[in-house]
Amino acid sequence: MFDSLARAIPDQTLLLHGVKITVKRLDLVHPQISGNKFFKLKYSFLDARRQGFKKVLTFGGAYSNHIAAAAYAAHACGFASTGIIRGEELAARPLNPTLQTAQQFGMQLRFISREQYRLKHTAEFLAQLQADYPEHYMIPEGGTNALAVQGCREILTENDLNNFDLICCAAGTGGTIAGLIEASLPRQRILGFSALKGLFLNDEVAKLTTKTNWEIIDDYCCGGYAKTTPELLQFMHQFEKKYNLPLEQVYTAKMMMGLSDLIQRSHFPKNTRILAIHSGGLQGKLQK
Ligand SMILES: *Cc1c(COP(=O)(O)O)cnc(C)c1O
Repeated sequence: MFDSLARAIPDQTLLLHGVKITVKRLDLVHPQISGNKFFKLKYSFLDARRQGFKKVLTFGGAYSNHIAAAAYAAHACGFASTGIIRGEELAARPLNPTLQTAQQFGMQLRFISREQYRLKHTAEFLAQLQADYPEHYMIPEGGTNALAVQGCREILTENDLNNFDLICCAAGTGGTIAGLIEASLPRQRILGFSALKGLFLNDEVAKLTTKTNWEIIDDYCCGGYAKTTPELLQFMHQFEKKYNLPLEQVYTAKMMMGLSDLIQRSHFPKNTRILAIHSGGLQGKLQK
């Protein structure tokens, strides 16, 4: 299923405070593997298959778009899958829609405490998991690794390289923006709107690319990951109505609110040709 794009990716052009922007609708790439997760997972699954694995294991929060996408991808590619989910207490509760979907696609869910989850990058924790799940191909949280960067390079087409000066995207673990940066031309700038508070993402992205034509800001993170403000929700609802374009509150609405604000403040040079990546994620919309 990763051998070709499920659908051609449509662009939508709209005016934000009188400035034309083009939105690349990755939310329409695939009905189940929405948005950037299609590109992020593609080469991990191809690599797992090439290496002869039959099972994959990955990590995520309870509302994770990555978990939903990985569960479907595993199902569609014929892998068994396990999801290590943050939050021990969730094991005793009914599954939310994201986890229900993951389970429907055959993902085995294992809930671990937040303290344990925080250790997921440590060699010790990974060695223990490898021992518990010996035949599983490991995909990191959010799917971000070198293979994800390779996949996300494919988000940008020849046309995107030739026709835009500024490329905007939402950022979580930084794999997507790293792929965009890697694909970009030196004259282009990539601007990431972090969904998380703090600028540690700069270090993460710098590990994935040596280029320097990018910047990440957290000015529109609304307090942190999955946090919202009345202003954000109001922006999202008004934007959706005005442009007939769905957003969600964790990533894409924060990016769009930030872009809208920067345009209103005349932050970009006149006639900057702007491409905004709609990274999908609509499965997680207002679940909480
Ligand atoms: C996962 C996700 C992101 C973040 O992508 P990273 O590669 O982790 O930075 C952005 N937008 C949406 C909709 C997502 O689901």
